[in-house]
Amino acid sequence: MKRGLRKLTVSNQCTAHGNFTVRDAYKKEQANIGLIINQSHLDNKICSSLWKATIPMNVKLFIWRAWFNLLPTVYNLQRRHLILNDGFCVHCSDPHEDVLHALFQCNRVQQVWEAANSINISSIQSSDNVNDYFAAAVSDHENKWEAFLMICWSLWLERNRIAHGQPSQNSGQIWQSATRLLQEFKDAHISGNAQYGLNVNPLASDWQPPPNGFVKLKCDAAWLPSSKQAGLGFVARNSEGEVILSGAKHIEYSESVLIAEASAVWWAIKIAHERHLTKIEVETDSFVLYRSLLTGRPLLQISSMWRDIIDLTSTFECYHWAFVKRDGNAVAHSISRYALGDIVTTVVDGHVHHESSICDLVDGS
Ligand SMILES: [Zn+2]
Repeated sequence: MKRGLRKLTVSNQCTAHGNFTVRDAYKKEQANIGLIINQSHLDNKICSSLWKATIPMNVKLFIWRAWFNLLPTVYNLQRRHLILNDGFCVHCSDPHEDVLHALFQCNRVQQVWEAANSINISSIQSSDNVNDYFAAAVSDHENKWEAFLMICWSLWLERNRIAHGQPSQNSGQIWQSATRLLQEFKDAHISGNAQYGLNVNPLASDWQPPPNGFVKLKCDAAWLPSSKQAGLGFVARNSEGEVILSGAKHIEYSESVLIAEASAVWWAIKIAHERHLTKIEVETDSFVLYRSLLTGRPLLQISSMWRDIIDLTSTFECYHWAFVKRDGNAVAHSISRYALGDIVTTVVDGHVHHESSICDLVDGS
C-alpha cells in the first residue's frame, strides 16, 4: 500500500451475492479496525489524548477515521471501486490523494502547517506513515495537540469546500478558522462565567423583568441532531410581565444547535422590528451566543446571521442582551419543542403560543 498507511484490505469477495456495496465496505472496514486493535497497533498515548481532547465529537471521529485510513480520499474511493481512476487532489492535481497527502504532504496543506506553526512538518516530511504525524504532534507539541487536531479538520473541510466548487481560503484563513472553532467550542464548555468579567446574574434562572418601557424577548431553540430539524420559540413580555406576543417556527434544516439558537434570536428580533417595538431586551440561554453578541465578537459558525442580528438590532432605539439559564427559559423552550414537532410558523398577540399545553409552567419564565 502506497506511503505505508495502515493496511486495510477490501476483498472483492466480501459479499455472498458478489455485489460490493458501501455497506459491505463499512462492515469490512469495521472488521479490519477490530483486527488492528487486537494486534495492538494503536499508540495508546495518541488514542487517549484524542478522546480526552476538548474538541467537538465529530472532529474526534474524523481524526479516528483519518488515523485508520477510513476517510473518503481519492485513493480510498478508487481502491473500493466507488469512483473511476480519474480523481485527483483538489489543490495540486496529484492523482494519488490519500490521507497522508490530504492532511500533511500536499504542498498546499504544508503551507497551512507552516503558517500555524503547530507542528514542525519539515522534521517528519520524509515519513510515509500518518501515525508519525500524530505521534509527533502529541509528543513534541502536546500543548498544541488540540489545535493540531482542529487544523486537520479544517484542512479536510477546505478540501471538501473546493471539491464542491467553493472558493479557496488562504493559509492564514484556514489556520485561523481552526483556532476560532476550537475557541468557540471551549467557550461553550466553560461552566463558570465570572472569568469573562461579564455581568451575568447568578439568579438568572429566575424571572428578571426588563427595564421600564422595554419588552423582553425570551428566545430558545430545540434541535434534533439526527434530523437537523429545529424548532424556534420566543415570548415577548413587558416590564409588568404581560405577554405582548409569542411565536413558534419550524426549521427543516439547521446545521448545529448554535445556529438554531441564533436563528431563534434572529427571528424574534425580526418580529419585534415588524411590530415596531422600539426598546428590547433579548434573552437567550446560549451563553456562547450571548457573550458573542455582548462583546461584538462574531462566531464563525454563524458569521452571516450574526451580522444580520447586529445590523437589525442597531435599528432599535435601545436594546440589551441578556443570558438566562435553561431552567429559567421554560416557556420559550416549550414553544420551541412544540415547533420542532410541527410544521408551523405562527406569531400570536397577547398570549403565549399553544398556552393550554404549558399553562402549568411557572408564569414569567
Ligand atoms: Zn495535493
